[in-house]
Amino acid sequence: MTDLSAFAAGLADGSIEVIDLTSPLHAGTPILMLPPEMGQTARFELEEISRYDDRGPAWYWNNFRTGEHTGTHFDAPNHWVSGKDLDDVSQVPVKRLIGPAVVIDKTAEAAKDPDYLLTVEDITAWEAEHGALPEGAWLIYRTGWSARGEDPEAFANADENGAHTPGMSPEAARYLAGTGILGVGVETVGTDAGGAFAFDPPFPCHAMFLGANKYGLTQLRNVDALPATGAVVVAAPLPIVNGSGSPCRVLALVAR
Ligand code: MN
Repeated sequence: MTDLSAFAAGLADGSIEVIDLTSPLHAGTPILMLPPEMGQTARFELEEISRYDDRGPAWYWNNFRTGEHTGTHFDAPNHWVSGKDLDDVSQVPVKRLIGPAVVIDKTAEAAKDPDYLLTVEDITAWEAEHGALPEGAWLIYRTGWSARGEDPEAFANADENGAHTPGMSPEAARYLAGTGILGVGVETVGTDAGGAFAFDPPFPCHAMFLGANKYGLTQLRNVDALPATGAVVVAAPLPIVNGSGSPCRVLALVAR
């Protein structure tokens, strides 16, 4: 007895919808910019090998170059010093790439204040309405930021003080790190707020989630199509041996 045949039938008849939460990956995909004295991640680049021409008469293919953390991507625990002895991206158990998704929507708050930080009170208020965060769930933090995703300047929203993009308070990151969630998915370039270098601790989502063997998903799109509860998210990073993360296809399954 299995529900998988009903699941496949639901995919075929559209009663289960598949929603792509992934940003298209191209040379203009926004990347994280660190201060110039630090190492920098690469943009995505395609290098044509052949295109039905004398280099390969019947075939088209490319090499590509990219940062592990370019575009919609997966943060593995070993990305951060707090998780340096935990899994690399190839070691993350595949069972932990799939889970129920819950969505906390702070679009209105982020529209008013691009530096909006999710609070513990926001999370507990959500739990009072929808129930406790499920074990093994992806927490999707919806901010509306993906509307800026094809405009790197608007996406970074930087001034002389750095980037102004929404994130979480250190207290909220600590609270979530103590729950049974798999990790957090965001619409911004990284899981932390644009101003998080100045937080105590700096980059609290990275430090606390990855140190707690949880994961990050970034630059998600179409999260407005997800219900607050009831979707299932599949995150599929490449199994890069020793890798700290990977560009990732992220799909959501939603019952209609
Ligand atoms: Mn990352």
